[in-house]
Amino acid sequence: MTGPAKKFNIPLISRSGQDITPLSDERLRELAQKLTAEERHVMLAQGTEPPNCGGVLHTGAGVYVCRLCGLPLFSSSAQFESHTGWPSFYETIDPEHVRLQLDKSHGMIRTEVRCRRCGSHLGHVFNDGPAPSGKRFCMNSVALELKENS
Ligand SMILES: [Zn+2]
Repeated sequence: MTGPAKKFNIPLISRSGQDITPLSDERLRELAQKLTAEERHVMLAQGTEPPNCGGVLHTGAGVYVCRLCGLPLFSSSAQFESHTGWPSFYETIDPEHVRLQLDKSHGMIRTEVRCRRCGSHLGHVFNDGPAPSGKRFCMNSVALELKENS
């Protein structure tokens, strides 16, 4: 094997012990096949789902993982009722598991939240959240999957 890909063969491990090495295009395409049209629209084309459509607003305790690649993103213990209709969290499970980037679309300046490993669009983060962080991670429920504690 030659070329630039070879240089990135060392796995990137987050502080919480997850492999956050960016996925190859081939692996992303493979994983994307399991998504529904709505999930694909939100996660791969930066769409936003209508509020209150999500199945993860009122559920049990557990860890929310990326719907596409399974990376743990939020704990249900950091979830709060924001009355926005989107699942909201005041912190991530590990700051290294998300990538924040400036989003100037739709005439607004917002901070977009993407999955660090697969690059999928998850939602946005705002500075009007509750203590202790003051952050509000406003997520699309279709981008998340709850793994309930057993
Ligand atoms: Zn992911």
